[in-house]
Amino acid sequence: MKLAGDWLDHPGTQALMQALEAAGHQALFVGGCVRNALLGEPVSDVDIATDATPEALSTLAETAGFKPVPTGIDHGTVTVVAGGKPHEVTTFRRDVETDGRRAVVAFSTRIEEDAHRRDFTMNALYADRHGAVIDPLHGLPDLQARRVRFVGDPETRIREDYLRILRFFRFHACYGDPEGGIDAEGLAACSALADGLDLISKERVTAELRKLLSARDPAPAVAAMAQAGVLARVLPGADPRALAPLVHLDAEEHPRWLRRLAVLGGDTDILRLSKAEARDLTALRTAIASADTPAVLGWRLGETLGLDAILARAASLGAPPPPGWQDEVRRGASARFPVIAADLMPGLQGEALGARMKELQGRWLSSGLMLSREDLLKEA
Ligand code: ATP
Ligand code: MG
Repeated sequence: MKLAGDWLDHPGTQALMQALEAAGHQALFVGGCVRNALLGEPVSDVDIATDATPEALSTLAETAGFKPVPTGIDHGTVTVVAGGKPHEVTTFRRDVETDGRRAVVAFSTRIEEDAHRRDFTMNALYADRHGAVIDPLHGLPDLQARRVRFVGDPETRIREDYLRILRFFRFHACYGDPEGGIDAEGLAACSALADGLDLISKERVTAELRKLLSARDPAPAVAAMAQAGVLARVLPGADPRALAPLVHLDAEEHPRWLRRLAVLGGDTDILRLSKAEARDLTALRTAIASADTPAVLGWRLGETLGLDAILARAASLGAPPPPGWQDEVRRGASARFPVIAADLMPGLQGEALGARMKELQGRWLSSGLMLSREDLLKEA
């Protein structure tokens, strides 16, 4: 089995791999890049595994004229910039101690040990610099069947790191076979150990949810999470039912995770959102509960969030969006309330002025953003 891709032929990448080999080391692509290349999915970042220690790697990289940056030195990861491109190079590892959250690792020179501490068989595939696939755990059949399966015993692997519960659903959403369904043994283990997720930091949980909900169709995975009692652990009160209708409606659109999160509802305050995400989510949830027209939502929220709000509300109500909604949201987003305070002065001042401005704005919104400045001032 051989893989190919522009990322593999990148001169910086090839030069780095060759420098490691020339020094007598193993250098193998691993994880997402191998998995995605084999599935024909885009490859975003390149992970490399090696038997060279981080020190040896750094010296070697510098000698070869590359820039090593010790980004995760505790875990044996050095980012090597070669030909302008970053590569995450990690020394083969085995776990020495685990506590459900993080592992103490030791370096290894054996690829089998490195493979065994990876989470899923489809993530434990390697390839050399020519693209020849190395499959120490026989993960290829799983990958070809798009079956997300734990390496080893699922319960044991989850107890080592409970985040793997969420990764299981995320990888199923991104790469699993929707018809084949989710791996039953893995699902049962996630369900049995769901309360261990309380050990995981909210930052890591939020980062996983962000990736899961950015999948093209996360609905089957989220439904499985709900059934397994996992969803309630990470998002108490969330209801997965509107997600499938939303995905159906937003199939043509860029998969925006916040729109998906908004229809799940629940106690999103426990997540660690950025300020902008928290603000947008609140606006979306208010919009879902409102009866505002598409034009008004476009005006209040702008185009992107306005479109999100209409889709999310339609999914929650189980009804299609109103005809012409996209154009209406765009019209609202570019509309300007035509009256300014100076139009009402000096006749009105202070509180009275504020109240009148608000009233006029209300009328303008109820008119579908149609009334002109003259109309509004005449009525005033
Ligand atoms: P993507 O980058 O597209 O999210 P990826 O497979 O590269 O996918 P990463 O989170 O970047 O995922 O991790 C890289 C590799 O490291 C994985 O493919 C897997 O082999 C291993 N890995 C990452 N996190 C864990 C974990 N919690 N437990 C075990 N192995 C892990
Ligand atoms: Mg990756």
